[in-house]
Amino acid sequence: MTPLIPVRLACRFRLDEGNGEAQPLKALCKVSQNILQYMVNIAWKHDVKTREQLRRLVYKELRKLYPNVPAILIPTLYSKALGIVKSAKSNGGSKPTIKKPFVILHKQMYKLDLEKSTIEVLGFKHPINAGKYAEKFKDGWNPKEATLHLRRGKVWINVVFEKLVEVVKPKAVMGIDLNLKNLAITVLDFKGKVLHQEKLPFKGLVKALTHKILQERIQKKYGKSWRFVKGIRKTVSRHGFRQHSRCLAEIHLIANRIVSLAEKFQAFLSIENLKGLRADNDLEEVHLWAYRKQQFVLGYKALLKGLRSLPVSAKGTSSKCPICNRRLKQKTYEELVCPKHGLMHRDLVASWNIAKKGLGKLLRCGVPVPP
Ligand SMILES: [Zn+2]
Repeated sequence: MTPLIPVRLACRFRLDEGNGEAQPLKALCKVSQNILQYMVNIAWKHDVKTREQLRRLVYKELRKLYPNVPAILIPTLYSKALGIVKSAKSNGGSKPTIKKPFVILHKQMYKLDLEKSTIEVLGFKHPINAGKYAEKFKDGWNPKEATLHLRRGKVWINVVFEKLVEVVKPKAVMGIDLNLKNLAITVLDFKGKVLHQEKLPFKGLVKALTHKILQERIQKKYGKSWRFVKGIRKTVSRHGFRQHSRCLAEIHLIANRIVSLAEKFQAFLSIENLKGLRADNDLEEVHLWAYRKQQFVLGYKALLKGLRSLPVSAKGTSSKCPICNRRLKQKTYEELVCPKHGLMHRDLVASWNIAKKGLGKLLRCGVPVPP
């Protein structure tokens, strides 16, 4: 039988508030915030490590303090409280304060109806503003846990959807190398033979960087005062918005092309492992943001087609000949030379080596199991 894997995506909805019907939800968010704060205080004071320990210390007291709150709400917050305390302690910080009102809803606690655009929480039905992005979740997606947030007086709902996807039996591996202006791919079969190589232009990153530079130039020109002048503030935020939206549009476009190619070859994707990479300045941060976003979008789009991603280290992938492993000499920035195989293009070499690493990983450990 083909293994099934869960693909998870989040979608955000805004609650359409009529005449104060959202008041109970808002109140619930605040109560939940207070409950979490109480748990954090206790966990902090007694250096609590496990859920069970925390439950014993807080549950009875919380039921007394908040007799009208549904009991199911309390256990959803144990792990959250422990996580907050743990990270604050490991950072050597002081006792954390919960600043945002929110509620975690287990799937039994709410009912989402995307056809009618409503959500039912604790017996109250509310209309929601779903938007176009939500359309796709009508088809075979199951809502899992959700979070309610209060932001600027409005209630937002973040729903995690899950879909089970059949994993494709791979026949090839596609190595992907993302560069500033293009994205290079190499498809290898299981014997390491090259089936396809291509360089796709990628304008998203340059667009993102251009807007980042424009944004910084304005900020520099006006110093710290820019925040207080409406016109400038607007321009700055418009560039910020464009930076993301244009880059995102490009990312989705190119991801669709890559996934349809990968489908054609039944290829798993071999991608650079970005874990642990850090940005040293703002521009690098934009870079890394775009790389991560690209990988995320690519990863879930491929997964929806049953194709997995194999993260590999990109170390040394543009310095060795993918055929004979000899060290390559640099001719120009773009061109590399192998003493045996002659001239090669840097981007294609990198994607080829990334594909080789992914293939090695696939053959060594079989199909990796998701966490
Ligand atoms: Zn060579």
